[in-house]
Amino acid sequence: MSDTIFGKIASGEMSADIVYEDDDVVAFRDISPQAPTHVLVIPRKPIPTLNDAAPEDAELLGKLLLAAAKVAAAEGIAEGGYRTIVNCNAGAGQTVFHLHLHVLGGRPMQWPPG
Ligand code: C5P
Repeated sequence: MSDTIFGKIASGEMSADIVYEDDDVVAFRDISPQAPTHVLVIPRKPIPTLNDAAPEDAELLGKLLLAAAKVAAAEGIAEGGYRTIVNCNAGAGQTVFHLHLHVLGGRPMQWPPG
């Protein structure tokens, strides 16, 4: 199991405000929310970055997106619009090296992102 903070959340070693979980993924509220809804969806499997995802992870990556849509619906932001983001590596702002999908909504979004 990964020893990142998110690995510990996935294994239950660390607590988080979990909004959805199943056998493969966990979704929890970001501790520093950048929008009224800001949830992180992670695989239980410790994949450090998107670059490390392998062909056999294809189904798992799909499950992350499906969980994001489920969370958006549960949070009431599906129709109003929401954004999903994967920061890959430090240059893109990744700070926790356990793959995670940000789900942001509940406010107008700008494009392009910073
Ligand atoms: O994509 P990036 O790696 O920058 O995102 C990490 C996110 O994890 C940040 O939005 C940060 O607020 C969040 N975080 C968290 N709980 C922690 C540590 C970081 O929700 N214990």
